[in-house]
Amino acid sequence: MSHKYFAYRKLGNKYMNSQKLLGYGQIANCVNALMKTGVELFSSIQDYDQYGRCLGSPIYADLDGPTALQDTRQLVSAIQEEYMSNPQVFFSGNKGFHVILDYYIAGPDCHLIVKEMMDGLGSWKSLDYAVYTQRRQFRLEGAKHHKTGLFKTRISTDELFMLELEAIKGIATKSIVDTNKQQHIDKDTIEDFDAEARVKVTAYQEEYAKAIQSKGHVLHTQLSPCIEKCLASKPFDGEWNIVITSIARFFNSRNLSYDQAMDMFMQYEHWQDDYKHVEKVMKTIYQRPSLFGCKGAEHLERFCDVLCEFNNKEELDFKLVR
Ligand SMILES: [Zn+2]
Repeated sequence: MSHKYFAYRKLGNKYMNSQKLLGYGQIANCVNALMKTGVELFSSIQDYDQYGRCLGSPIYADLDGPTALQDTRQLVSAIQEEYMSNPQVFFSGNKGFHVILDYYIAGPDCHLIVKEMMDGLGSWKSLDYAVYTQRRQFRLEGAKHHKTGLFKTRISTDELFMLELEAIKGIATKSIVDTNKQQHIDKDTIEDFDAEARVKVTAYQEEYAKAIQSKGHVLHTQLSPCIEKCLASKPFDGEWNIVITSIARFFNSRNLSYDQAMDMFMQYEHWQDDYKHVEKVMKTIYQRPSLFGCKGAEHLERFCDVLCEFNNKEELDFKLVR
C-alpha cells in the first residue's frame, strides 16, 4: 500500500509539525478532521512504502516568483505539445502554481527523472528545483495559505491562459476540495497516457538508469547534513558503533544496496582503517529495512541543521489529532 509523508502547520506557528508517514486512508481522515480547523496541510509529492522507501511520483512542477504565471502558461503549453496531455494546474495560495501531469514515474529516483524532463521542456526562471528532492511537500488542495488567506485551488487551463493573477486569486478565496480524491494521482491512471508520449517518458527513465550505471554507484538522495558530516569525520572515542549504525540505517532507509553503502564509507580513510567494524555493523543493519531520524541522537544532532529533512523527526509515532 502507498503512503505519503503528511504534515500540518497551526495558525501562527513558524514551523510545521514533523512529517508523518501515513497511508492514503489515514491522510484522507486527517484532511477531513483538520481542513475545517483552518490549519495549513501538506503531503509529500512522492509515494512511499510503509518503511519510508520511495515508490514513485507523478510528473510535477512548482513555479514561484514574479514570472510564475507566464512561466506556468509556457510550461503547460510545452507539456501539451510534447506529451499530448493536459496537466492539472493549481494556484498555490500565494503567488505560484503547481503543475501535475498524470503519469506515474516509479522508483526511488522519480523526482530526479522528473527534473530532467522539466529541463528537457525548456528553461524555467521560476521553477523551484528544490522540489526535486526526497520528501518534498505540496500544500494540499483546498488548504489555506496563512500569509495570504487564500486557498490552494485547482484552475482550468482556460483560466490559466485567460485570467490575470488578481482574477485567479479571486477564485481562490474559498476552500474547494474533494477529500476522497487527493490531488496526487494514483498509479493506475497511467493507462490513459498517450502511447507516443509514454515512449518519450520511458526514454528519460532509461537514460537516467544508464547514467546511474556508468557512475558505478547510486546515491538515491542527497546526504542529509548530519550524515554527510558524520561520514566525513572520525568519530569520538566510544561513539564508533553508534555512528556507524546511524550511517548504515540512513543508507538502508534510502535504498542504497549493501555494496553501494560500503563504497560510501570506504571513500574515507578513517573508515578504511576500521573496515571490519563497519562491515559487522552494516551486515546487522541490512538484515531488515531501516528507518532513520536524527531527533534525540546526540552524535547526529551536533551536526544537524535546519536544512536536514530528518531534523526533529520521530518515526511512525503519529497519533491522529482530533
Ligand atoms: Zn539531521
